[in-house]
Amino acid sequence: MYNGLIEKVAFVRLILEIRVTFMGSSPVPRPGQMGTSVYVELGNGKNFIFDMGPGSIANYLSAGIPFNQINDIFITHLHWDHVASVPYAYMFGGWAGRWHESFRVHGPSGRTEKHGIAYMMDRMDEMLTWHKDSFDIFPIGEGWNLDVNEFDFADDGGVVYENDGVKIIHWRQSHTQDGASAYRLDWNGMCVAFTGDGRPNSLTLKYAKGCDLVITEVQVELMAISAGVNGVSPMIGRMTVDTSHNPGYAAGYLFNEIKPRLGMTTHMSYDAYSNPELLAQIREKWKGPFHFGAPDMIVVNMTPDKVWVRDGVIAEYSNVAAPKFDVQSQGGLIIPPAKYNRSDIQQESIRDAEISPKKYYPKGYAPERIDEWPTKKPLFIPAEAMNKSED
Ligand SMILES: [Zn+2]
Ligand SMILES: [Zn+2]
Repeated sequence: MYNGLIEKVAFVRLILEIRVTFMGSSPVPRPGQMGTSVYVELGNGKNFIFDMGPGSIANYLSAGIPFNQINDIFITHLHWDHVASVPYAYMFGGWAGRWHESFRVHGPSGRTEKHGIAYMMDRMDEMLTWHKDSFDIFPIGEGWNLDVNEFDFADDGGVVYENDGVKIIHWRQSHTQDGASAYRLDWNGMCVAFTGDGRPNSLTLKYAKGCDLVITEVQVELMAISAGVNGVSPMIGRMTVDTSHNPGYAAGYLFNEIKPRLGMTTHMSYDAYSNPELLAQIREKWKGPFHFGAPDMIVVNMTPDKVWVRDGVIAEYSNVAAPKFDVQSQGGLIIPPAKYNRSDIQQESIRDAEISPKKYYPKGYAPERIDEWPTKKPLFIPAEAMNKSED
């Protein structure tokens, strides 16, 4: 009975927890700060990615998230510092076992058809023609199925996603041109809002109201100095903030109006010269709980009555976790066939020009090579056999 109680308590804790990790925290990628990406994991096992800037994929992989589990990406807007890791995750996730699932991307429409996420993802798919065909000598299955959910950017408060008790809505952000969006995720009575990029916005006050964790982008109000540090002309720096971004003072204002359980800023340069000044600017209006969502791997855990922050630690030269498969529903693992052999997509003469393995392998060493995927039919590995190999 005692054990039963412990199990029950553990179960409840698992269910009622949200974990947020800053997998990228800067508009300009640099070691320690990749392009913006906020990873939200729920206690029900569902995970969501908000933006996926350049280099952020490295932090996902280092954190032990298998390639084939990187999915359900919500893009706030189509600036490259929020999107660059998407094509990489799309390609390598398919190769590394995303065989039975589409790659799912959500994002806003724009002021014309060409400014929407569907247009961008369609062109991304086209851009990847060589890559996709090349990887099609391996099992891919449904890995190249691109499932794009484009919502009407102007439909403030509209629902982008609703499933398993998770609801995600969006609203407009003022960020140079139409289409920039903010998101709010609600689950089990808890809420995380992420504004993406944009000027301080009254719509954020309206739609992020009541949120436990509010994450906004920020720029420190030190234009001349930070322009110099970042190699930007002060006038361009000033105008970039005034047309597109959220100054530190404004972040404090937003937090104080919304009064979250924790306010956080990201998409910022985490620098010794500017952090104290930025904090002072935020503190001008907001006296409540605050933490920088930078540098990378800041981790927030949140339950209905507690929220705490830790520094996530990842190995510098990490390796990739094995793919995770749902073997239960099918009774095993189905490996799809490959679409091509190399002979379908490559000149024979360049294969003939390959140096014979006999010339470089030691004498007596001749590995059993796999030059093409051995079957044109799906392979089935029963769950029992997989469990056995794990033992
Ligand atoms: Zn940005
Ligand atoms: Zn932007």
